[in-house]
Amino acid sequence: MLYVGIDDTDSKCGMCTTYLAAVLAGRLEAFGLHGYPRLIRLNPNIKYKTRGNAALCLVLERGPADEVERIVVRAVEEYARFDDENTNPGVVIHEGEIPEDVRAFAIRVVRDVVDIQEALLLARRHGMRVHRFKNGRGVIGALASIGLDLYDHTYELLAYRMPGNYEKPRWLDRESVYRMDEATYPDTWDNVDLRNKVIVFSPHTPDPVLYGIRGNSPEVLVEARKMLVTEPAERSQIFITNQGTDMHLVEARIADVRNDRSYILKGFVCEEPRAIEGGHVFFKMEQAGACIECAAFEPTKNFREIVKKLIRGDEVRVFGSVKNGTVNLEKLEIVKLAELVKTTPPKCPVCGKSMESVGKDRGYRCRKCGAKRALPVFERVKRDLETGLYEVPPSARRHLAKQIIRIKEPWCRTHPGR
Ligand code: ATP
Repeated sequence: MLYVGIDDTDSKCGMCTTYLAAVLAGRLEAFGLHGYPRLIRLNPNIKYKTRGNAALCLVLERGPADEVERIVVRAVEEYARFDDENTNPGVVIHEGEIPEDVRAFAIRVVRDVVDIQEALLLARRHGMRVHRFKNGRGVIGALASIGLDLYDHTYELLAYRMPGNYEKPRWLDRESVYRMDEATYPDTWDNVDLRNKVIVFSPHTPDPVLYGIRGNSPEVLVEARKMLVTEPAERSQIFITNQGTDMHLVEARIADVRNDRSYILKGFVCEEPRAIEGGHVFFKMEQAGACIECAAFEPTKNFREIVKKLIRGDEVRVFGSVKNGTVNLEKLEIVKLAELVKTTPPKCPVCGKSMESVGKDRGYRCRKCGAKRALPVFERVKRDLETGLYEVPPSARRHLAKQIIRIKEPWCRTHPGR
């Protein structure tokens, strides 16, 4: 097998490395494409990323490697946006089995922050062909795209625009998108955000992507595409991918959390939610004496309404990336609800009138007959919140975040956001 990994060819002003992979899938067809090209999402918190921190890998049945290398390097030179200082392409070509240390490196690139020297050392150790353009940072992603074990995977069909249309607004028949979504959900997902009434499978950025349908199988994606009425596509390509797998998340203790990584954390709400200007909602959770802030930012829309209902003592599990010491929530499991107790002034035991507070922690007194009483009436209030797993809506979903509908284990009640 011959593995071709590429990364970091695009810029915010245009291009997309998935497009280059789609072009290469055509140019390398004669070498026998083995399976679908791999669209690998890496650590979503990397500051160098253009958009979704993707890297691409094509797997070929045969060489010759020299010929493949020539074609790939020529394509990168042709398509990469070298004018952008943040575009630093990397190409890695590997022949044979995937070494164990390359697999271990790849999963770290999804979960951690790594160094370019480590990628270069590893590639050289295994005699891989490496091409660095400018500072060549793309080598990190290129190597990871080759090495990542897709122990869980989904598929995405990406359709690309006719180059002459790049400057124009995208044209898609909205009705056809909603019809396609209704007909294929839950085997496809995140095409539309029903609650917030937006189409989310088509970007608004100046790149060649017309739309991307995400789903469980290549077959459902092909069926879904047939239902769409859109501007003409120049080409389309199905990718196998680690999107929608939660591969970026690691279970950890709050005390061990580091910025720019993504976690599943367990604990108790220790500071109740508060909304700040701009509509962002924050609360704090605690575990074994360590405390961390969690955030549901404005783009998470209706998900914030769930978060706002948390109270001190609720047992929760949070899923998300940590930035500046704050967990950006992707999912929230409410494990156990704390009791919400309301206190009201007691009735006077002598005359039945409502008593009034004497002061904080100083009990109650009846205005009419002067009777005293120490305690208020405690009343349990029914919580307007169900336990279970909640997620941000499709319009705020991260590529790697696993959709609740993909979680098959019946270990808790689920509340899919749609
Ligand atoms: P593209 O479509 O070009 O891949 P992108 O949004 O995926 O755009 P890149 O432009 O590739 O982002 O930028 C990400 C850069 O960060 C790449 O050079 C990649 O090699 C590097 N990178 C990715 N993950 C990590 C990581 N975990 N640690 C360090 N560097 C990383």
